[in-house]
Amino acid sequence: MKVLVVNAGSSSLKYQLIDMTTESTLAKGLVERIGIDGTRLKQEVNGDKYVLEQPMKNHVVASQFMLDALTDKVHGVLSNMDEIAAVGHRVLHGGEKFTQSVIIDDEVIEAIKENIPLGPLHNPANLMGIMACHEVMPNTPMVAVFDTAFHQTMPPKAFLYGVPIDYYERLHVRRYGFHGTSHRYVSARAAEFLGKDINNLRIITCHLGNGSSIAAVHNGKCVDTSMGITPLEGLLMGTRSGSMDPAVLQYIMNNDGINIDEMLEILNKKSGLLGVSGVSSDMRDVDTAAESGNKNALVAQQILDMGIKKYIGAYAAVMGGVDVIVFTAGIGENGIELRERVMEDMSFLGAAIDKEKNKVKGKEADISADDSKVKVVVIPTNEELVIARDTLELVNP
Ligand code: ADP
Repeated sequence: MKVLVVNAGSSSLKYQLIDMTTESTLAKGLVERIGIDGTRLKQEVNGDKYVLEQPMKNHVVASQFMLDALTDKVHGVLSNMDEIAAVGHRVLHGGEKFTQSVIIDDEVIEAIKENIPLGPLHNPANLMGIMACHEVMPNTPMVAVFDTAFHQTMPPKAFLYGVPIDYYERLHVRRYGFHGTSHRYVSARAAEFLGKDINNLRIITCHLGNGSSIAAVHNGKCVDTSMGITPLEGLLMGTRSGSMDPAVLQYIMNNDGINIDEMLEILNKKSGLLGVSGVSSDMRDVDTAAESGNKNALVAQQILDMGIKKYIGAYAAVMGGVDVIVFTAGIGENGIELRERVMEDMSFLGAAIDKEKNKVKGKEADISADDSKVKVVVIPTNEELVIARDTLELVNP
């Protein structure tokens, strides 16, 4: 049984074909610059790299080229597209309606549309991906997997903001949280990896990539997370500011004569590691600059380190302690020095890492010191696999 996982952006389509018998990836691809100059499809199958440069005016055309690439006699892996049992779509915002993945029907499409005001950049793009796949594979069942779903178990005291309750009741203003598929996967996988029962664990999952978020997972359920109504809240990220006093907005806007859209563009795209360091949004570049003495790069690194420490402390307090700390995503899986800095002086929590064991990149590892009461682990995330598993489970119960 083969499942296609699709993650559609406004001008891109990322896909992965997964063989569910072995849970292995058969093909991985990306169509970028859809509808603009220089549209390109890149696909990788067993080390074979296939690139097709070809105008594609919209996601429907791009989806057809994706199917053509997957069934290509030389570079493909399928003899025909009917081998695809189902398609799983990543959808950013499920609002309060979706607490788990669902089979896509007209009602679900309407509900994703209703959530566009909450996810104005991503939900329309995700919908375009869904409609495009539906057009080129009309008989293939499709499933939506939401980035927000795992966090729907948060209690009101965690998800409500301290603003008049009317904003929640009328406009659904609240914390939703993102990267839910990743937090769900790495918390479950960490428990499995350690041979423990997730229903009896207090886990803090640190998803640190271009976008970063931390979640408190108590007995398998999310009880708090750092991202908010949008992915802007929480930690300092590649280009996002993370949390700050909202009055800063008024001060900068009045002073510089910019409007709210321009301000949010700055907070989403020009802040974070990039804005503070002035070097790059990429952690590796910031690390290199900091090492060679760039003070702004160093302080950007320190803001992130301290932010992660603060969330770990806060979530341990919320759960009455912590049993497992998980590092995942690009920085979490590969950032040896960052993990070392973040876990320094955490003995008050009963948590310490072994510097030698910590020298791992991109693979599952227990990096805790022998006498650490808290297990500290690296678990590479695999959101595509979760999407594929949910898809298969729903279409083939
Ligand atoms: P996305 O959120 O786009 O999926 P990733 O999870 O791929 O992002 O994470 C990207 C981040 O991971 C970048 O900041 C990159 O610098 C960082 N990263 C990747 N490899 C390393 C490494 N070896 N050391 C430190 N950071 C790394």
